[in-house]
Amino acid sequence: MAETRIKSRVLSHTRLSDTAYQLRIERKGLVFRAGELLSLYGEATLDSRDYTIASGEGDEALDILYRLLPQGALTPQLARLQPGDALSFSGPCGSFQLRDASASLVFVATGTGIAPCRSFLRTYPELDLTLLHGAREPVDLFYRDEWAAKTYYPCVSRVPVEGFQGRVSDRIKLLSLPPDAHFYLCGANEMIYEVSEWLLKAGFASEQIFKEPYYYRADD
Ligand SMILES: Cc1cc2nc3c(=O)[nH]c(=O)nc-3n(C[C@H](O)[C@H](O)[C@H](O)COP(=O)(O)OP(=O)(O)OC[C@H]3O[C@@H](n4cnc5c(N)ncnc54)[C@H](O)[C@@H]3O)c2cc1C
Repeated sequence: MAETRIKSRVLSHTRLSDTAYQLRIERKGLVFRAGELLSLYGEATLDSRDYTIASGEGDEALDILYRLLPQGALTPQLARLQPGDALSFSGPCGSFQLRDASASLVFVATGTGIAPCRSFLRTYPELDLTLLHGAREPVDLFYRDEWAAKTYYPCVSRVPVEGFQGRVSDRIKLLSLPPDAHFYLCGANEMIYEVSEWLLKAGFASEQIFKEPYYYRADD
């Protein structure tokens, strides 16, 4: 059966860094759970790609955080969108939802993998959450002003930020982690693999680790 496409419209399109953008589109009454994603459609049938909703469950519009890949199929089309333009989506779907809002959470993200963390925190501002965010450049530490009330470890491998220079997979090894924490890992597959292997070796159970791989590339 064909997926139901919902016709939406661009409300705003904001450049966040050299290659990253936030697209805000009409919600069209969509009901979703924090951590779920949409498929966005381009001009050709094959040009649909998945994007986590970066808004909270109660927000008026749908925010999508995406990185422009100049050789990619869909993101160059997204990058041309102007406020008022039409954009279709289907969804929501996905399984990267909050399992237990009362648990201690450690969220580890690279690049645009921060999107579900934003949705979690906009939906449940009181979460006991520690965030490690890895980025290419300090400017790619998206939404960092929104994490002020949380324990936040920005990680950039090329320059020191707040006294640390390196990857999230290095930073997490320096932390004292609650034994019953839930770990949410999102972004580059290589980071997810590396961090989950380390967590398992450190004695955490696989049931404590939730993963949302986006793409293969280590230096995001
Ligand atoms: C569950 C899920 C959720 C996702 N959520 C988001 C999201 O919220 N924001 C977002 O930007 N992307 C997200 N993605 C990735 C997205 O679906 C697309 O793959 C990405 O936007 C590239 O699409 P494209 O058509 O421009 O490139 P394509 O023509 O698909 O080719 C892109 C190539 O670059 C790699 N790639 C994809 N994304 C990146 C990246 N960010 N950095 C470096 N290399 C990359 C791919 O592995 C592929 O080899 C998600 C993917 C999945 C599976």
